[in-house]
Amino acid sequence: MEKGTISVSTENIFPIIKKFLYSEQEIFLRELVSNAVDATTKLSKLAKMGEVQGELGELYVEVILDKEAKTLTIRDRGIGMTADEVKKYINTIALSSAEEFIKKFESNDKAGIIGHFGLGFYSAFMVADQVEIFTQSYKQEPAVHWTCTGTTEFELTTTSKTERGTDIVLHINDESKEYLEEYKIKQVLEKYCKFLPISIRFGTEEVEQEEKGPDEKPVMKTVPRIINNTTPAYIKSPNELKEEDYKKFYNELYPFSEAPLFWIHINTDFPFNLKGILYFPKYKPNTDLNRNKIHLYSNQVFVTDSVDQIVPEFLTLLQGVIDSPDIPLNVSRSYLQGDPNVKKISQHIVKKVADKLLEIFNTDRPSFEQKWESLGMFVKYGMLSDDKFYNIAQKFCLFQNTENRSYTFDELKEHTQTLQKDKQGKLVQLYTTNHEAQHTYIDNAQKYGYEVLKLDGYIDQHFIQFLESKHNDVAFKRVDADTLNKLIEKDEEVASVLSKEEEEKLKELFTAVIDTKHAQVELKALPPEEVPVQITKSEFMRRMSDMSRMSGGQFAMMGEMPEQMNVVVNTNHPSITKLLSENNTEHVRQLYDLALLAQGMLKGKALTEFIHRSVGELSK
Ligand code: ADP
Repeated sequence: MEKGTISVSTENIFPIIKKFLYSEQEIFLRELVSNAVDATTKLSKLAKMGEVQGELGELYVEVILDKEAKTLTIRDRGIGMTADEVKKYINTIALSSAEEFIKKFESNDKAGIIGHFGLGFYSAFMVADQVEIFTQSYKQEPAVHWTCTGTTEFELTTTSKTERGTDIVLHINDESKEYLEEYKIKQVLEKYCKFLPISIRFGTEEVEQEEKGPDEKPVMKTVPRIINNTTPAYIKSPNELKEEDYKKFYNELYPFSEAPLFWIHINTDFPFNLKGILYFPKYKPNTDLNRNKIHLYSNQVFVTDSVDQIVPEFLTLLQGVIDSPDIPLNVSRSYLQGDPNVKKISQHIVKKVADKLLEIFNTDRPSFEQKWESLGMFVKYGMLSDDKFYNIAQKFCLFQNTENRSYTFDELKEHTQTLQKDKQGKLVQLYTTNHEAQHTYIDNAQKYGYEVLKLDGYIDQHFIQFLESKHNDVAFKRVDADTLNKLIEKDEEVASVLSKEEEEKLKELFTAVIDTKHAQVELKALPPEEVPVQITKSEFMRRMSDMSRMSGGQFAMMGEMPEQMNVVVNTNHPSITKLLSENNTEHVRQLYDLALLAQGMLKGKALTEFIHRSVGELSK
């Protein structure tokens, strides 16, 4: 037997490992199973190179729980270790043989080896107060038994193990009893090991035997329970996969979720290694954005589902898997942001997503338009936050009018060029945030042949502001922000038929019935066929108060300001001329109420009173 001291610079490294190294204790299992998988893939590689004698046997990793003995064992049939290797690799912390292995065989294919986790093996001491290794190398040297109780002292002897491979036996400590529960181990394995490339067995399960007995009753049999799918769709080549396979994989990731809209398969070897499938979910207004997040893997080992620093924020609305051995792990999030690899990977993903959307738009526009409801928010968010995405996305970002016709921005400009250019040369885009409530205004605009766009999403206010800053020649105006001839000002002026005195009198009549705190009267000479009275709210003031309501802070007080409205009286309308001659305040009020009604502002008691008054008028 050999005794010795593990060579570490700090005597007390174990307490540090235990407490600080990993915030999530459960990852010890990920580390040990990954090592077992590594040892197994290494063996297959050596066998392919003719370096292993004899049969390999069935290659799998087994996790064995013994509640009575209070042990958890991770067993593999991989390359194993000789006594010298144990001394070298296990006793010398952070000496990763994975790196060496790669150098030795000059392999370009790093992908098969999970060697990114540094202190992996020693994380076992987070949950165990004693760790044993029983290992037999493929080199057929005597098997070794290594024991360590969480100090820097270890013991090394030979042992009678005959099977090739390694058993790591953890004597679970009292504080970590939960890792002696089957459900807990199963849960942790399913979280981290779901797509590992070597079969992981844990316990057994009952399945129906394929051949049924003569009485047709299903016969059950006990088989090893296999935790993982060793060949998840995302590692396959896109031409091996059909639509069904992508949907099935989505279900594997997020059981019981509604089918995704479409997906993007990423498969890059150069200049970095990146695989993955990103799914576009169907978005409904109440979709919980925190569910079903993108899962980040490294060589098929689950790392995290908080990818915020790795992909731009707008991409976190997507779902699926990305796997890259080139993303540094176990480092702080702020470090990730500055990492050049992470930046490149992130840009690559953005480009892929934009290209895919453009491809669908170009090849199947009708289906793209159908999906726009779910896509729109995502695309606009992306355009707002990423210039490169903006450049591609402006080719397919859609604007829908109230009749559900869709235009790209260029098409829209082209389409509105002749009618909607105002006298300053600005192309005015009219929009509505509420088709029902603003119907009268929309209807009026349509009479002039104007397009009215539906921009009712919560991101749209920011988005149009942003577009205006990008395109100086375009202005967006809500259809009820002013009278039409002011929204799109043209050269031709309509003269008023009223005299100055009549206009004064008209103003007085209306000022007497309106709520002057929140409204003011404005006389306008409009074409006689336009409505006699209409209510408008300034685009500028409304945007200010909308924005402040959404963002709080600096402009928060604006949000509390009551909305100011203009009561626009059309001095050329016949009923206005009539009002002046009869001098009847009841009729003034009625016209005003009608305008409020059209704006959807007449509600509750005011509405009831209006109806009573109107009925009263009729019975006179
Ligand atoms: P890393 O996995 O990053 O190399 P570890 O501390 O987890 O770091 O492991 C150190 C080394 O110990 C591994 O590189 C490997 O050479 C060896 N090792 C660990 N577990 C096994 C195993 N199950 N079979 C064979 N070798 C192993």
